[in-house]
Amino acid sequence: MAYIDPHIHMVSRTTDDYQAMAEAGCVAITEPAFWAGFDRSSPAGFYDYFRQLTEVEPKRAARYGIAHHCWLCINPKEAEDPVFAREVMGLIPEFLDKPNVLGIGEIGLNKNSRNELTILEEQIELAKQHDRLILVHTPHLEDKLKGTRITMDGISQPEWAVSVRWLTESDLPQRSVPGPRSCESGTKPSLPAGPWVGG
Ligand SMILES: [Zn+2]
Repeated sequence: MAYIDPHIHMVSRTTDDYQAMAEAGCVAITEPAFWAGFDRSSPAGFYDYFRQLTEVEPKRAARYGIAHHCWLCINPKEAEDPVFAREVMGLIPEFLDKPNVLGIGEIGLNKNSRNELTILEEQIELAKQHDRLILVHTPHLEDKLKGTRITMDGISQPEWAVSVRWLTESDLPQRSVPGPRSCESGTKPSLPAGPWVGG
């Protein structure tokens, strides 16, 4: 059965994983920008990470017939310093037109702090300016339910004017992928309209 993995961090996975995913039927993935396991010391570290997500990883995935799509952002885990976060956000626009970029993500909250909320808001604004999708994750730390509520309440505020809807196959750029398996069109979500929820 062909399937799409909507949320996976392949930069931390081996090519053996790509092989196993292809054998299991994976035809496409979307990879959100994430924390690297350590705090990056400069925005330049993010610049190279964005190159990895938009240039290197799509080629690695294509060798296994998997179409690689990605989301770019500064993850909330590294967004506690707004000055640093804004420098990273300033790098994102030049990558948004790369063929595998879907939008801004994974954004959200981590410790549910005020600074994180400010940067979440600014990243939603960035997505709006460029008419891009956002991908939101729920907090790893502190109160997950509370953080999720804060995020959802914020997203539905009129001034943010974010329309929440399902990601559909038409959101994925149509790209042919060389390799053992071509990128077939995805399956339509079977749940009712609303935010797209995944693991
Ligand atoms: Zn993630």
